[in-house]
Amino acid sequence: MALNRALIVLGPPGAGKGTQSRRIAQLYNVPHLSTGDMLRDAINRGTELGKIAQPIMERGDLVSDELIMAMVEQRLSEPDCSKGFVFDGFPRTLKQAAQLDAILESHGFGKPIVVDFAVPEDKLLKRLTGRWMCSVDGETYNIYEKPPKVAGICDADGGTLIQRADDRPEAVKERLAVYERKTKPLTDYYESKGLLERVDAGKSVEEVNREVRAILNRVDGQHGRV
Ligand SMILES: [Zn+2]
Repeated sequence: MALNRALIVLGPPGAGKGTQSRRIAQLYNVPHLSTGDMLRDAINRGTELGKIAQPIMERGDLVSDELIMAMVEQRLSEPDCSKGFVFDGFPRTLKQAAQLDAILESHGFGKPIVVDFAVPEDKLLKRLTGRWMCSVDGETYNIYEKPPKVAGICDADGGTLIQRADDRPEAVKERLAVYERKTKPLTDYYESKGLLERVDAGKSVEEVNREVRAILNRVDGQHGRV
């Protein structure tokens, strides 16, 4: 079983992109790529691009599209990517998507498969605003889906549970609105090319995983690297 192409997983925060894209990458034995990990890795290894990115990230500034795309192209040229790869939450903009298409084409990967994770808003709000983390061991709870035995207290070590500032309801609503606004052009772009596959990511991890695998089986042999 081979992926032989790029799988792009899109979806709002809280849609479970990380979990699913890691599982698919493992299943096909291909790298799971996120630009955040790629940047940290480039910096740790002290690559040319890493040296450029480091001071920018330390200042807390955003790394330019040019730098991101150069890093992506370099990463895709590495041997472990020859059988395909899974992008988690990338591309983020229309411009990145168009450039990624050109890179994939020039490296012989053909067209990507784009899976868009959609989750009903009330469910997303519960997943995100329900998230509390132990201040001692970092264990995460969800007060709706996976509550601690005693409210506000970690089961394992009695640590106080804290909520990240950007998981508070007002912040979450803002994050989702920003995501929506930024991503709509991107999904429209892939849809117009006939590459977009929608997945109801409000279901369980197992069900979503099955659905993604079914999509990959169905499009196998179409428009990928052969
Ligand atoms: Zn704990």
